[in-house]
Amino acid sequence: MLVDSHAHLNFKAYSDDLPAVIDRCHQVPMKVINVGAAIASSNTAIDIAASHQDMYAALGLHPIHVYDEEFRSSDYQRLIDDNPDKVVAMGETGFDYWHLQESLDKGAKSIAEIKEKQEKLFRAHIDLATKNNLVLIIHGRNGRDEASAYQDIYNVLKDTGISRGVIHCYGGNLAEAKAFVDLGFHLGFTGIVTFDKTGVLEEIIKWIPINRMLIETDAPYLSPEPYRGRRNEPAYVRYVAQKIASIRGMNEEEVIEITGDNAIKLFKLK
Ligand SMILES: [Zn+2]
Repeated sequence: MLVDSHAHLNFKAYSDDLPAVIDRCHQVPMKVINVGAAIASSNTAIDIAASHQDMYAALGLHPIHVYDEEFRSSDYQRLIDDNPDKVVAMGETGFDYWHLQESLDKGAKSIAEIKEKQEKLFRAHIDLATKNNLVLIIHGRNGRDEASAYQDIYNVLKDTGISRGVIHCYGGNLAEAKAFVDLGFHLGFTGIVTFDKTGVLEEIIKWIPINRMLIETDAPYLSPEPYRGRRNEPAYVRYVAQKIASIRGMNEEEVIEITGDNAIKLFKLK
């Protein structure tokens, strides 16, 4: 079954026509995990999941929002307790070194302070994921100066011993990909695969054990070809499967079934 393992129908981009977008998901049919980036969008993800059988929620405070609000573990724990069948993951969480300037503009004293705060936040998500036996959805984005978020993510994961999760919208190199898979993690691939010219993703997609691969949209962002530049939506995850199939010499349906099974097993989707 087609599964979009990472979308944000809980974001404002869908406030005008959410029922129509969800309707198109039902028509496919498919399952969708909507991922929180703050307490409000985590709550919205739960609301959507509560009223739709094939929708699930992940809860988290995105590293780019570390200066926007406090992460209170008890608030997130309450949401998990109240929605045991619908909360399937913690995240997205991790390190984002691309948007450091925004955090400096919000009052951060130094890059070191931002990284420290992001790490503390990341570890708080890992604690909740571990305690509640939830999947960890990890966000990584390298800095403009090539500072590797993935290296720092790896170090924290290795240190905590957690092994159940996905590095979403994977953007590291092949060596890092191998290290994450060795730890037990899945890697998520978005519409970027349909227009990436670097060849790095293609190399990783050719290499990765098929049972560790997930597909996702990260909607409303990162629309695949032929929708590039427009608002993305979960139903377009099919184009990610199509591209991966052509890279691996498989057929599209096979990729949809296998990556769907991977997501259903990893997140225990009912
Ligand atoms: Zn996302």
